[in-house]
Amino acid sequence: MEGQPMLMIPGPTPVPEQVLRAMAKPPIGHRSGDFSKVIAEITANLKWLHQTQNDVVALTVSGTGAMEAGIINFFSPGDRVLVGDNGKFGERWGLISKAFGLNVDIIKAEWGKPLNPEEFRAKLEQDTEKQIKGVIITHSETSTGVLNDLETINKYVKAHGEALIIVDAVTSLGAVNLPIDEWGLDVVGSGSQKGYMIPPGLGFVSISPKAWKAYETATIPKFYLDLGKYKKATDKDSSPFTPPVNLMYGLQVALQMMKAEGLDKIFARHQLTTKATRAAMKALNLPLLAPDEYASTAVTAVMPTTVDAEKIRGTIKKQFDISLAGGQDHLKGKIFRIGHLGFVSERDILTVICALETTLVELGYEGATPGAGVAAASQVLAQS
Ligand SMILES: *Cc1c(COP(=O)(O)O)cnc(C)c1O
Repeated sequence: MEGQPMLMIPGPTPVPEQVLRAMAKPPIGHRSGDFSKVIAEITANLKWLHQTQNDVVALTVSGTGAMEAGIINFFSPGDRVLVGDNGKFGERWGLISKAFGLNVDIIKAEWGKPLNPEEFRAKLEQDTEKQIKGVIITHSETSTGVLNDLETINKYVKAHGEALIIVDAVTSLGAVNLPIDEWGLDVVGSGSQKGYMIPPGLGFVSISPKAWKAYETATIPKFYLDLGKYKKATDKDSSPFTPPVNLMYGLQVALQMMKAEGLDKIFARHQLTTKATRAAMKALNLPLLAPDEYASTAVTAVMPTTVDAEKIRGTIKKQFDISLAGGQDHLKGKIFRIGHLGFVSERDILTVICALETTLVELGYEGATPGAGVAAASQVLAQS
């Protein structure tokens, strides 16, 4: 049967029909009064989603563009920064920082393991002269499904006093509690095709007053990604350049849907689908890459030992039109990743687990009894 693809990857994520319909409207002028109203509503709801009174701006970029904006607006060449790297996206933070001439000190952890907050504490405490200008972290490391302990690392940054805390929240915003004001997070970047339930094309950055102070003296050249331009326009319910009008229509509806569900319920839903997915993989004797205590609520990485990860992906796609993500870099061919981010329900998770079991039978996997995964997931879902 054709035409029923199921997207279970950590971005792009599934898009609700209401959002797709909103995006199908003819565009209007982005300088019109009607569109100003759309921007005003979106801006207010973005602040709600970010749990912040800080500025939140929308950029026409992918998530990486939001990350780049988070670097070039707040630092000068030669500034010392600490970068956490325990996966593809942490590594990218390091590459962006180096590309713009920062003095980068990388704190690494093995892929699949969380960053160790004590290593950050040690470096920050040693820095009595306050040379460290920023600590740059990926909250949910999508390449491995590890959720880093941002709260603890941030406490050490706050104790340091000088450094900004810069966060890639691309697969944590809208998936797990991220109280920006309560924690005092300075710069938080995200992207539309992840927790926002809309297609790719928009990046978001929230900026604290402390970060704006750093902005005033930052000398890395910038033009299109100059966040000052976006703040000035956003304050007038406008945008500095032509925004993707139709994507904004979709965002408007997606944010309305999120508000109707409520943040607590959204987080609980992500926690539940994560727990059910992990229980099922364990029951099927499929090893999980990330430890339970550091499990991302956006994506679960599975590292099968006696059956080929790429064969699983190929078969489940062919047989059921379900897309799972593969591994990146050295994990290519070694893992598959199940996305459960954004518009993903308990029903979707049960469907994937069921289809995965059938796929395993087809591939001759003898590591578990068919049905064990669904049974384990059902237990988790029934208790909720
Ligand atoms: C998807 C993702 C990004 C951004 O990737 P783009 O392809 O530029 O949108 C950044 N960080 C994390 C953790 C991600 O999952």
